[in-house]
Amino acid sequence: MSINRIENPYVMRIEDTTVVNNHFSGNHKDWDDKTEFDSFKENFRVIIRQEQEKKCCFCKSYIKQRKQNADIEHFIPKSKHKRFTFHPENLAISCKRCNSVKSIHNPFDDSNIPNDSIENYPRSSEFYSLVHPHFDDYYVNIRIIDNVLIQAVTDKGWNTVVRCALYEPELAMDKAKEELFNSENIKDVFMRLMMDYDDDDMQERLLIILRNLNSI
Ligand SMILES: [Zn+2]
Repeated sequence: MSINRIENPYVMRIEDTTVVNNHFSGNHKDWDDKTEFDSFKENFRVIIRQEQEKKCCFCKSYIKQRKQNADIEHFIPKSKHKRFTFHPENLAISCKRCNSVKSIHNPFDDSNIPNDSIENYPRSSEFYSLVHPHFDDYYVNIRIIDNVLIQAVTDKGWNTVVRCALYEPELAMDKAKEELFNSENIKDVFMRLMMDYDDDDMQERLLIILRNLNSI
């Protein structure tokens, strides 16, 4: 069973804290606008992608290291509670698809709380309508049949499936392709070809394919 939740949140390094203190004006737009945060984002991506076993926090699809593939998701939208823009427990790695589908939906029920008036990050599962990457066990709420078909188990799982459109056939198709691509069999096929063909050109091509398969 792959990871249920993030158990080791990102620990801010001294340089991360310095850059946030020096450049975060309190406006959530700083996140996208200021290049000073690039090193923090890169550090976060590398460490938390590993912590999440290289999988999206919502759909559990594999995500590559490149920043074009690995989005940093703000679980409580930064536009809603900007003080949590850099809060490690509000952040997780998601795929492009899920990040854009969830968009600025706020899973934290703050209907009775004025914007940005909460000081401490709400750290209990019950505050959230969607499966929280840090405080909820994913596979208690959602199951993935044969690693392909996503199905809700609980009400919170259902909310997450609906909000992130995890029921989409296209997602299941992508996950099926991913399964095939990652299966040992497909690597065996290329390994066998490596042994069967000894011309340099073919060997080089197969080596590149195998390297790509292993790097996912
Ligand atoms: Zn996803």
